[in-house]
Amino acid sequence: MGTVPARAARIIAFLNTRDIDLGQDTFKASAGFATWLRQERAFTGPRPSEEETEAARVLREGFRDVVAWHGSGDAPPIHELDRLNAWLVRYPVPFAVATDGFLDQLQPARTVADALGALVAEVALCQASPVWARVKVCQNPDCRWAYYDGSHSATQKWCSMAACGNRMKARRHRARRRSVSGHRDQKER
Ligand SMILES: [Zn+2]
Repeated sequence: MGTVPARAARIIAFLNTRDIDLGQDTFKASAGFATWLRQERAFTGPRPSEEETEAARVLREGFRDVVAWHGSGDAPPIHELDRLNAWLVRYPVPFAVATDGFLDQLQPARTVADALGALVAEVALCQASPVWARVKVCQNPDCRWAYYDGSHSATQKWCSMAACGNRMKARRHRARRRSVSGHRDQKER
């Protein structure tokens, strides 16, 4: 499948701090978010508050929604974008100008707000490159795992065919059969 571009890998790792299928969330409490900032972002500033941890969760799920609309041919619903815009009003995005005049660097993060803003900046920089179209969210609604679509045609819909692709195909098959036969199957999964 090849290597995942670094910028995409960082965004994917951020989205995957929540595992919906297993019901686990690294940012469930501020301690987990603090550890993540220290280990994954080399952040040495103050500990995040519960409010800042909630802000990180809102940002993450906002971008998960945006990414989930990739390749669908539709725009995300406006309420999803409103939530992100409300977030962006509160947290500055700490861009820095590089020596060539391009806004492709970030200020060092001194506060948690800086670190959160840096996550937004990374998405903005990734969106400016062709890499962005390959950053995806699994279309299995019980999964929504983020991944990099390294396929030749860039039309992959699931995090993995084995884990979710076959499961979704089986579900659609059951749904079709149900609508034909008119009776309900057992609870799925
Ligand atoms: Zn999946």
